[in-house]
Amino acid sequence: MKPIRAKKKLGQHFLTDLNIARRIAYTLDFEKHQNIIEIGPGMGVLTQFLISEAQSITLVEIDSESVVYLKNTYTDKHLTLIEGDFLKLNFRKVFGEGPFAIIGNFPYNISTQIVFKTLENRAQIPFFSGMFQKEVAERICEPPGSKKYGILSVLTQLFYETELLFHVPPQVFRPPPKVDSAVIRLVRKAQFTLDCNEAFLIQVVKLSFQQRRKTLRNSLKTLNIPKMLSEDAIFDQRPEKLSGKDFVQLAKKIGHGNISN
Ligand code: SAH
Repeated sequence: MKPIRAKKKLGQHFLTDLNIARRIAYTLDFEKHQNIIEIGPGMGVLTQFLISEAQSITLVEIDSESVVYLKNTYTDKHLTLIEGDFLKLNFRKVFGEGPFAIIGNFPYNISTQIVFKTLENRAQIPFFSGMFQKEVAERICEPPGSKKYGILSVLTQLFYETELLFHVPPQVFRPPPKVDSAVIRLVRKAQFTLDCNEAFLIQVVKLSFQQRRKTLRNSLKTLNIPKMLSEDAIFDQRPEKLSGKDFVQLAKKIGHGNISN
């Protein structure tokens, strides 16, 4: 079971506590989700639980030593092992148009990129759960109005119900990370399409939070909003007060937010 040495640049912190691994695995409803991707299985601590429950499981692992271990350990027919970078994975090639759930004790060095890739491909991803560093987990789940509420919160919460399930201390990993960890669950909302231009919405959200203490009127100056429009009371707000839906309204109000643009 022991890796020769964990490679830090791959975010390798192997979970050693089997009870926690089991709890993470069972955040997923295996009846509901038949195709599963595990990101970064490492030495298989979660995989062993997933494999006995899942109807079909795909492991995506970048580290060749782990891949050799996984290949030798799991020979089940309903398992596919992909050696490579999750961020470069073409979902259509693996699943066609079909749905799949994502789970993992994720590599923390690419946490936000994993979430953004999930959001981009949400049409295929009804469910996502797993472990991140605590700060990222909190940012994803925090409601509007709090200090931690930001770009990641707005965009994730537009499309998913988010829930921080439990915290995990550094001591249960080898080597222990410098940060605390937390397990989250995302369940896609019934309505997960946008009625505004997505690229423009993301631009508005990012611009708004770049200077989060300023009013939207100030932060969105570079969008050359007509003066008449910018007198609307919404521009007096700070970004952390706005929900995803509010940002969609804002994008539409500014105009370029129309879906056809
Ligand atoms: N799930 C295992 C390992 C967690 S450490 C456990 O809980 O013990 C994170 C894992 O992600 C490592 O195995 C690392 O090699 C892998 N990894 C890092 N970057 C990756 C990437 N871009 N794509 C796929 N796997 C990656």
